[in-house]
Amino acid sequence: MSSSDQTSFLENVNLCFDRAAAAIELPSGLAQQIRTCNAICEVKFGVELRGGYEVFTGWRATHSEHVLPVKGGIRYATFADQQEVEALAALMTYKCSIVNVPYGGSKGALKIDPKKYTQDELEHITRRFTQELDKRGFIGPGLNVPAPDMGTGQRMMAWMADEYQRLHPTDINARGCVTGKPVHFGGIQGRTEATGRGVQYGLREFFRNPDDVKSAGLEGTLEGKKIIVQGLGNVGYHAAKFFEEEDGAKIIAILERDGALLNEEGLSVEAVFAHKQEKGCMEGFSGAQFVPGGAELLEHPCDILVPAAMEGVITQENAGNIKAKVIAEAANGPVSYEADRILNEKCVFILPDAYLNAGGVTVSYFEWLKNLSHVRFGRMDRRYEEAQGQAILDVLEQALGKPVEGAARDSLLTGPDELTLVRSGLDDTMREAYGEIREVHLSNDKINDRRTAAFALSIKKIAAIYESMEL
Ligand code: NAD
Repeated sequence: MSSSDQTSFLENVNLCFDRAAAAIELPSGLAQQIRTCNAICEVKFGVELRGGYEVFTGWRATHSEHVLPVKGGIRYATFADQQEVEALAALMTYKCSIVNVPYGGSKGALKIDPKKYTQDELEHITRRFTQELDKRGFIGPGLNVPAPDMGTGQRMMAWMADEYQRLHPTDINARGCVTGKPVHFGGIQGRTEATGRGVQYGLREFFRNPDDVKSAGLEGTLEGKKIIVQGLGNVGYHAAKFFEEEDGAKIIAILERDGALLNEEGLSVEAVFAHKQEKGCMEGFSGAQFVPGGAELLEHPCDILVPAAMEGVITQENAGNIKAKVIAEAANGPVSYEADRILNEKCVFILPDAYLNAGGVTVSYFEWLKNLSHVRFGRMDRRYEEAQGQAILDVLEQALGKPVEGAARDSLLTGPDELTLVRSGLDDTMREAYGEIREVHLSNDKINDRRTAAFALSIKKIAAIYESMEL
């Protein structure tokens, strides 16, 4: 979908790229090579449904193959189109490079409203889509690895993995052909929450940098900060829940398709989510003001605005009215290029999508590594680490002459399980990348914002790989 600015989502991504490429030194033509989408396939396939046939259209784009496999989500949406897929594939290339995940970028979509089909029908359609992608070399553990995105989830990834395995029965790594699978089917603990968790870790890191916090006109930590979230889907729900329950932030408004809920004292994310699950909408939730439509609440005063629904929601039409001090881009492409310029002039601190929502692909990378190594994280070392902790505890207790109790004891005697390791790896990834982006920003006086810095960082890394390859 294009934003309501004149520029499309793809043009927005390319404009951001061009602005960053102009700020760094590159051999002639290399920026163009990096920016170009390498391949895109459109498939049209028939599926036998409800006593007849229905034809579906889908796409898979491979943006850059400077590293393989390429990686990116598959979305099921009625508004999906080729340009959007190309834009999202390009963002994936930059995102993976920013967070040091060794993949090229890809993305896919199927033009479909998944709500109109039964589970059995969706399974049939998803398996057919997988066959089409497989025929054309657009899926495979060493080649192209999809993941969930809007309108898709764990169950669909399991169907895709199963179909791929059926087509390639001797491929021992077949399950690594998609990520975001259920844990019992080759998935990894912590994948479902990963993008929201990464948004939390990214914002926590922002608050660990007092200069950044000050430049946004804020102080302190996430505690007590007023946050508005748009979209209570996978990403928005998890991010909002973690901010509220773990960081003590106040979620003062949640915007959904039918309208928004507003409560300056803070909403219970879990209660709102349960209401939405039960009623399918926001209206009727007690303890908050319901604002029909609700998009105007993007302009409501708050400390942090978290667009976590879809692209193109902040454009030149509403950017000037935004009152948030920080925009944390949990969704892909929520701010258009023109809006980005307006917001930067207003000194709104933007944590860009290509960095902030990289938690999903980071944990997908961990899942893929688990699939290729055929062993769960923590299996080899958990009990060993507990034995080490016990040895330290024995020495400590002997020296102190009394038992060590409480959290200190528990922490020494608990070896890391898979979820702990996944969160630790994600936290490390988000912190490292934040520092790298910050460094690029502060060391280049042609760069004025974190989005341009993030793009420049990624272009530099990809350029270094291309320069070592023979093209
Ligand atoms: P989702 O389908 O689970 O949730 C999206 C939510 O936003 C839904 O609840 C939907 O009703 C709501 N919504 C849609 N349009 C809206 C609008 N105009 N106003 C208010 N609410 C609206 O999707 P998701 O997986 O949470 O993805 C959300 C965004 O995050 C997308 O831009 C996606 O590309 C991006 N993203 C997702 C992941 C992931 O791991 N799921 C990773 C990186 C980026």
